Amino acid sequence: MNNSKKVPTTVSLENYGIKHNTIHYQLSPSRLHEITLEKNMGKEASSGALAVNTGEFTGRSPMDRFIVRDKITENQVWWGDINIPFEPSKFDALYDKVIGYVSDKELYVRDCYACADANYRMNIRVINEYPWSNMFAYNMFIRPTNEELKNFEPEWTVINAPGFMADAEIDGTRQHNFAILNFTRKIALIGGTGYTGEIKKGIFSALNFILPVQKNTLPMHCSANVGKKGDTAIFFGLSGTGKTTLSTDANRKLIGDDEHGWNNENAVFNFEGGCYAKVINLSAEQEPEIYGAIKKGAILENVIMNDAGMVDFENTSITQNTRVSYPIYHIENIKQPSLGENPKNIFFLTADAFGVLPPISKLTPSQAAYHFISGYTAKVAGTEAGVKEPIPSFSACFGAPFMPLHPTKYAEMLSKKMQDAGVNVWLVNTGWTGGPYGVGTRMKLKYTRAMINAVLNGDLGLYNYNDYHIHSVFGVAQPRSCPGVPTEVLSPRTTWNDDDAYYKTAFKLSNAFRENFEQFEEYASEEIRRGGPQRYAF
Ligand code: ATP
Ligand code: MN
Repeated sequence: MNNSKKVPTTVSLENYGIKHNTIHYQLSPSRLHEITLEKNMGKEASSGALAVNTGEFTGRSPMDRFIVRDKITENQVWWGDINIPFEPSKFDALYDKVIGYVSDKELYVRDCYACADANYRMNIRVINEYPWSNMFAYNMFIRPTNEELKNFEPEWTVINAPGFMADAEIDGTRQHNFAILNFTRKIALIGGTGYTGEIKKGIFSALNFILPVQKNTLPMHCSANVGKKGDTAIFFGLSGTGKTTLSTDANRKLIGDDEHGWNNENAVFNFEGGCYAKVINLSAEQEPEIYGAIKKGAILENVIMNDAGMVDFENTSITQNTRVSYPIYHIENIKQPSLGENPKNIFFLTADAFGVLPPISKLTPSQAAYHFISGYTAKVAGTEAGVKEPIPSFSACFGAPFMPLHPTKYAEMLSKKMQDAGVNVWLVNTGWTGGPYGVGTRMKLKYTRAMINAVLNGDLGLYNYNDYHIHSVFGVAQPRSCPGVPTEVLSPRTTWNDDDAYYKTAFKLSNAFRENFEQFEEYASEEIRRGGPQRYAF
């Protein structure tokens, strides 16, 4: 026993060039909560959760996200507006500046890891300027046991200095904030922004490169859960389409709410150890599990509270993107470890603000590939200036900002895996019904859940041609009935009460699909191209 190692209580950061500072290593979330209050950097909500303001940035800043162009990335990354190159020498210089900045500060250091599947595990060291950002890392990454900490060797390091402001002209950034990935040095360098999502999405982006390139494994921007019979379902979708909301289901065990891998051993595994839910308009009635997860240990971001610490979830005066992070064990019904078998059903979630896509429809393999590459959702214009037109938004693989490789790389892998596993793919419109944004209303969460449950329980078979209707514009199979959902809701055209306006809008969206797809035309097979909607000239 005399050579048994002790659980470390601190670490040296000298090999990062960090000297002369106070290091708070692996503090408990309750200690970080306390320190945040002591330093006046946050408040305690009546629920016991910690509430912080992330500062200037309340969301990610995709235009300030760079990848160092080096031997590893040069010929692999799909360079452009999404993956913006950064020169290695500029990185080294900026790194030294950030290190200089943090060296006279107290630092919060956490060792943790990503990927619930041991074969893909990535050890991470997170070095934070702020205590609450370190608590976020506790919530969101996977927590090593004490035993694992004894021999912990970090592979990637996140250096997170929200208070450091870059000088764009000298440092090679666009402005004062930045999130830069360096695959040679295995560092995610984040400065000038306190938005915590940059921390988790930095590691996600790194995995989205490493897994397919080095491990032939598919990373996915999706949530996942598993039913009583061990049937896994995964939900792809862009921000706000319902990944977190719909995967958090009292009747199914949650695997994870945002980032997963699909390995070659027939399993889906979570990258993370926690959830990061939107809390705009959150209610205990509609989303009891998420509401209940907001307790001591959770971190609320950019919410407004009254003097008694009651959160006003309807208040968007700081941002629409109010959030809460919590460790996954704040949800009762979870799968441990966060792994599931090959999915039986895949849902593509889209918040169609044109209100023309059916609330649920089944896709053929060609349509599935087409929709995956397209990654459609819609953005709604700000409400201040009255009702405006919704804007179609396409983001390849339902997560282009985090995908360093060309979208077809991920699409090919997904298509193959879907085929091998014999998965059913469904397109779910969690957006508007009865007309476009401004006229219609958001699809009732109750109905979306009923449709998804019907699929998962096998009640939406679509075996006979009279079980479904092929949509004349989008070509998808629209069920004629579904338990728990009024029949008319299943047909978007019927909910409009104006065929003319409906088809005009549907063709507007189908043309937007086709226009967006032009950039992928040369890579896509005839079969995939056939999965697209009809074109209509007007
Ligand atoms: P992100 O990638 O940013 O985490 P997400 O896909 O996880 O986004 P959610 O956090 O689930 O998105 O957000 C969906 C939001 O839409 C929630 O606020 C939810 O309450 C609301 N909502 C309203 N109607 C529906 C519906 N029919 N289906 C799903 N969500 C709905
Ligand atoms: Mn989410």
